[in-house]
Amino acid sequence: MGKPNKSLMGLDLKVVLMLSVALNVVLISKVLYQEDEDQENKISMVCLDTGSSSSYVSTRDAHVSRSRTPFDTTTSGTDVLNGGDGDSGVIIDLDHGNPTMYEEYWKQMGDKTTIVIPGWQFISYFSDVKNVCWFLEPEFAKAAIRLHNLIGNAVTEDHYIVVGTGSSQLYQAVLYALAPTDSPEPMSVVSAAPFYSSYPLMTDYLKSGIHRWAGDAYNFCTDEPYIELVTSPNNPDGSIRLAVAKGDKRILVHDLAYYWPQYTPITHRADEDIMLFTISKSTGHAGTRIGWALVRDPKIAKKMTKFIEINTIGVSKDSQLRAARILQTVSDDYDSIGNVKEDERFFEYSYSVMVKRWKELRAVVDKSEKFSLPKFTPDTCTFSGQTFEPQPAFAWLKCEEETVEDCENFFRSHNILTRGGKHFGVSPKYVRISMLDSNNKFKIFTERLLRLSSMKS
Ligand code: PMP
Repeated sequence: MGKPNKSLMGLDLKVVLMLSVALNVVLISKVLYQEDEDQENKISMVCLDTGSSSSYVSTRDAHVSRSRTPFDTTTSGTDVLNGGDGDSGVIIDLDHGNPTMYEEYWKQMGDKTTIVIPGWQFISYFSDVKNVCWFLEPEFAKAAIRLHNLIGNAVTEDHYIVVGTGSSQLYQAVLYALAPTDSPEPMSVVSAAPFYSSYPLMTDYLKSGIHRWAGDAYNFCTDEPYIELVTSPNNPDGSIRLAVAKGDKRILVHDLAYYWPQYTPITHRADEDIMLFTISKSTGHAGTRIGWALVRDPKIAKKMTKFIEINTIGVSKDSQLRAARILQTVSDDYDSIGNVKEDERFFEYSYSVMVKRWKELRAVVDKSEKFSLPKFTPDTCTFSGQTFEPQPAFAWLKCEEETVEDCENFFRSHNILTRGGKHFGVSPKYVRISMLDSNNKFKIFTERLLRLSSMKS
């Protein structure tokens, strides 16, 4: 046998190569198909589980719609009811304050907010070792300060910035920083009802022994030091809040997640000792998981930093950089006068979406006596110069009919998922409804609400 012919060898190799590619393609598509099948099986199990004939909004929503945990993620808005045939009894999940309404805006911004991080960059734990908060990315700090100065909603001078994995982590850090570890009794934590439903859960879930949830600030009085959370504008009812609890030993924490000009007129630069902010509600980037605290006392800022160090050894740099870019983009659009049209700037856009949604919702609610919404007083916004009523991120709706004792159940029976008053420390006659979800969901919600309003009881 002679040596194999070179060109024949070349051909063989090509054939072998082609065969192996073909085999791989078959294998990959089989795996993908199998995954699809598994997914389908899971979904049909979920749907069967419901015992209801109603169709779900989307496959991913199916899981979410049935979830009652506050932080289960929801669908990405845009794939809700894509190509759907309108309201065919789909389940509308407006339980979570998932800010998908902003997706459309950021999509239109294209690559302005895109960042690329090479694999070798930002791999250290440390960001700025000289800073009290050593894992705070200077670029993020700069962007946050710049935005506050632009909006005029908070004093940043004489405050330290502590960054957190969402303001949820900062909430826990602040409790840790304020509650003495050597006290025989846990420190009480209160907030005026209706209060943000996560406060009791976040305060007590570790049964820490240093702090405990003590409920409604209106009914609380003690001679001991305690913490009061002041959420303004308030989640769930959108009201503008001041501290309410009695006693001179209170320590105030101001949760200002919604103190932005799309939700409420900015009336002053908040200058509190401890203020919490989050990118989740300011620009809608909840998935980036970035919050920041402005803290006057360096000792408290240090202790909060310590908590985050023990908890997660810092906060994702990638996320901080992404958040920085987003905040910079928002500010840049206001600085570059003439280049960006007014209605293309973030706060004008988000403000006008909220105006529209609240107008539509109020028009429906006002049509019958069955439901009611809080009334707000207009104020002039120092940022925009416009006078307007608060237009909160949530609608705090009351079921007025005597026959409806549990408003959440009532809406659930009409395939609308909301969060009921009892989660916020008040009557089940109330529900909180997210105003920040996708246009499609909001449209179906208002149309269905209109039908419910005109239905005979
Ligand atoms: N505070 C309030 C009042 C909120 O409504 C929320 C979000 N629902 C948070 C804090 C938590 O925000 P983050 O996503 O930054 O953890």
